[in-house]
Amino acid sequence: MVLTPALRNETDAAVRPSDRLTDRHGRRITDLRISITDRCNYKCVYCRTGNDGAVYAELSIAEYLRMARVFIALGIEKIRLTGGEPLLRRELPQLLRELSALRTLDGEPLDLALTTNGHLLEEMAEPLRAAGLSRITVSMDAVDADKFARITRVPGSYQRVLAGIRAAKRAGLDPVKVNCVLLRGFNEDQIVAFAKFSREEGVIVRFIEFMPLEEDRLWTPESVVSLREITTALNSFKLLVPLAPNAASETAVRYTFDDGVGEIGIIAPVTQAFCGHCSRVRLTSDGKIRTCLFSQTDHDLYGVLQRGGSDDDLAAFIRRTVDQKEARHHIGEPGFLKPSRSMVHIGG
Ligand code: SAM
Repeated sequence: MVLTPALRNETDAAVRPSDRLTDRHGRRITDLRISITDRCNYKCVYCRTGNDGAVYAELSIAEYLRMARVFIALGIEKIRLTGGEPLLRRELPQLLRELSALRTLDGEPLDLALTTNGHLLEEMAEPLRAAGLSRITVSMDAVDADKFARITRVPGSYQRVLAGIRAAKRAGLDPVKVNCVLLRGFNEDQIVAFAKFSREEGVIVRFIEFMPLEEDRLWTPESVVSLREITTALNSFKLLVPLAPNAASETAVRYTFDDGVGEIGIIAPVTQAFCGHCSRVRLTSDGKIRTCLFSQTDHDLYGVLQRGGSDDDLAAFIRRTVDQKEARHHIGEPGFLKPSRSMVHIGG
């Protein structure tokens, strides 16, 4: 497939450090998440309804790539591919190959990441590694086969995801992170089991507080298993030792245990919001920019492209949009409005 030409190098050189993407609250925006499909082969109870009938929207790989190049020319340094389920796009290795050849404004390789449910990972881990991916995040919400199948609504999902995680390790993807959303009444009994899993499998386990982004109306403040509850459960298993953040915009609070074996991250957007140092924007599978998971508005970047806009037009649109990034979310506050899209149609 012929891909749209890159922004020319002269354009990159014209972006001075002071011109790099920054919002009106002074936050540098360096991290872009691109959803390359909103189709998913799982129907996790905390994310999707059990019903079919949704309308899906995908762009061509060349179109995502063209938009990504413009973002990179404005200062994006990290791109995470997500969905829906990104492994459902068979052109994914091609996109990774193209992205891994790009350089940031500082001439560094892009920090490339991928989030997957792992269902197709056993066969895809090697090709993804060969295409330039160096690390991966796999979502897995229980280390118990029956419980996991009840959450994903797909029989046999646990065996497939476990095989995928092990294949990712064998392929040399490093680190392999395993994300677990904790939902009261479904899997809060899995905390210690996941601690053991991290220690035995050599993966980083990250617990994520449940956010009101689901298609069904399940979320209540009581459904959230909080950071404090998670650390209490972990400490009762083995003493936690805090680890320093990897970066200023790190979303996870990191821990190991007192023998240094295993690593746990806790992402607590509800009880310990990290909006003040948010460096992220998102591009949905239909080419809309979202400046916050909880935005009420989408910004139609793809519309600019469809109308024949130049790379400069795309760049100007991105700048105007990023400038409007929300100061913070308002989860749990009076008057909180659920976002205009659910997680599967935003890209997690
Ligand atoms: N299909 C891929 C996967 O399963 O990782 C990528 C997309 S999925 C929407 C990305 C992440 O969002 C997953 O780790 C999922 O568990 C998480 N997620 C979905 N709904 C959520 C919610 N309401 N609160 C917190 N995390 C959520």
